[in-house]
Amino acid sequence: MKKKLIAGNWKMNGSLAANEALVSALLAGAGAPACEAVLCVPSPYLAQVRGLLGANSPFSLGAQDVSQHENGAFTGDVSATMLKDFGVRYVIVGHSERRLHQAESDTHVAIKVRRALAEGITPIVCVGESLAEREGGLTELVVKRQLAAVIHLNGHCISEIVVAYEPIWAIGTGKTATPEQAQEVHAVLRGQLQAASEHADRIRILYGGSMNAANAAQLLSQPDIDGGLIGGASLKAPDFLAIMGAAG
Ligand code: PEP
Repeated sequence: MKKKLIAGNWKMNGSLAANEALVSALLAGAGAPACEAVLCVPSPYLAQVRGLLGANSPFSLGAQDVSQHENGAFTGDVSATMLKDFGVRYVIVGHSERRLHQAESDTHVAIKVRRALAEGITPIVCVGESLAEREGGLTELVVKRQLAAVIHLNGHCISEIVVAYEPIWAIGTGKTATPEQAQEVHAVLRGQLQAASEHADRIRILYGGSMNAANAAQLLSQPDIDGGLIGGASLKAPDFLAIMGAAG
């Protein structure tokens, strides 16, 4: 049976002092978790958090984006090779905030996934619909289109990815998808992955969107919800640890 994965997305939050306090509280409370856990931190803090976690940590190190380019004249970009240099094991790709604010297309996302996989970094590929798309009955169409681009470019390697279903209307809003709503979409994504890879059952599909200590257990008990991608609640050690506990 696959272990559940709980990934914290710190977004553009933190400071040297705040990171130190957060990581030490997480390490003090984590024990030997039954789930796998990852902290996706802002790039400038990768080295610091790597040092704070130390060897044999219950937390893996993650990043929040990767360049679609290998190297060269791409000012501001961070390559997959650079992330690997810092011990990064996971990278979030195609978060809706990047699709929106950085105009990342499905094709950009698919290329980024390929870059990460080429360096042995597991991409956490985000898909999700807006409120207007959900209300227009387009949820399935949108998430399948987003995932199809990744499958198309990465072929059989997709068995190495993690998928995160993140309805945009639930991110940072306090509005969570019901377990039934989330499971319905996860089952669609699972079916799409199964059609593309004979190893699809081992691909973890995370739910993200206002997951917190109070609603995690119910969401995580759904058959196709294999973990969570956590924004706001990942900045509070007790909340993140409680979510990890719910995944055990
Ligand atoms: C996210 O940004 O990936 C996320 C799920 O945020 P939040 O948990 O705050 O809704």
